[in-house]
Amino acid sequence: MKKNWMTLAVAFAVFSGSSSAAGASNLAQEKKQEQIEQLVSVEQVLTHVHACSATLTLRSQALTAQQEQQTCQMLSQIEQRFHQTFGTLGHPVAHDGNTSLRANIYATHADFKRYATAHFDMPTDNGGMYLEGLPDLAGNQAEFVANQKPDGSIHNLAHEYVHYLDGRFNLYGDFCAGLHDSHSPPENCPRPAPLAPYLVWWTEGVAEYLSKGADNPPAVAAAAQPKYALSALFDTGYESNNGVARIYTWGYLAVRYMMEKQRSKVEQMLRFTRNGDYPRYQALVKTWGTSMDADFNAWLAELATHGTSSTSAMAR
Ligand SMILES: [Zn+2]
Repeated sequence: MKKNWMTLAVAFAVFSGSSSAAGASNLAQEKKQEQIEQLVSVEQVLTHVHACSATLTLRSQALTAQQEQQTCQMLSQIEQRFHQTFGTLGHPVAHDGNTSLRANIYATHADFKRYATAHFDMPTDNGGMYLEGLPDLAGNQAEFVANQKPDGSIHNLAHEYVHYLDGRFNLYGDFCAGLHDSHSPPENCPRPAPLAPYLVWWTEGVAEYLSKGADNPPAVAAAAQPKYALSALFDTGYESNNGVARIYTWGYLAVRYMMEKQRSKVEQMLRFTRNGDYPRYQALVKTWGTSMDADFNAWLAELATHGTSSTSAMAR
C-alpha cells in the first residue's frame, strides 16, 4: 500500500514538472519542492536507529545519544507500570504478533508535517499517532510517529506507548475491530461504525492514566466542574460525543475512577476485550447503566478538593 502511494507520487511529480516548465510560478515551484521532499524515503530522513530493548526501537532524525537513553528509560518505566498494573505476566492477547514497537521521531513538527503522510500514509493534523497495523499478519510492524518538541522531548510518546501495550495485552484485534466511530486514515475503518457504547474512553483514558499517573492538573481542575456523567463517558467517540476534553481529560477521569474504585468491573470488562468479545463488553456496560454515576461524582468532588484521591495508587 505504501509502495503504491510512492508510485503515484512519482507519477504526479513528473507530470507537474513538465507543466510548470511553461510558466514557472512560485506556487508551482513550491509544489514541486514539496513533491520532491515527499519522495525522500523514511530511511533517508530518520537515520538514527537505536534499539532500547527487544520490545522497543527508536528511529529518529536528530535524537542525541543522551535523549535516546532518557527516552528508553522513561518508556521502560511505563512498560513495567503497565505490566504491574494489569498483571499481564507478559502474555499478549491471541493472534498478536506485535512483539515490538518502532517509534519514528521527526526533528520538528514542520518535518513531521512534511514527511509523515508520505512515509506512513497518515494524516498530520494531530500530535502523533500510533499505527497498530494488522497484528495478526506476519511481518507487521507496529509504528509510533511523532516529533520532538522545541525542548527536545517527544510529543505524546508515553501516551502512545501505552496504546501499543493496551492494544497488545488488553484488546483483541486491530484498530478497526475495536469499538469506536473513527473512519480516518490510515485504517479507514468501514462504515457504519458500531453503535455506542465504545471503548474510546478506555483506550484514550488508560493512555493518559498510565502515562501521567496522579500528575494531571487539568483533570483535577475539570473534576471541580463535572461536565459528564460516567454513564455518558462510556459513549464517547472520536467523531460524535467527542472533543479534546471529553476524550482525554474525561477519559482519564473515567479510567482512573474505574481503576481505583471499580477494579473488579474493569477486570470483568477486560476478560471480554482480551477475547475480542465486544458485544458482551457492550452488554456489560449497559448493565452498569447509571449505577456508578453518583459515586463517580462523589469521587470527582474528593479529587477536586484534595488534588488526589485517598485511594490513589498511582503517585509518581
Ligand atoms: Zn491516544
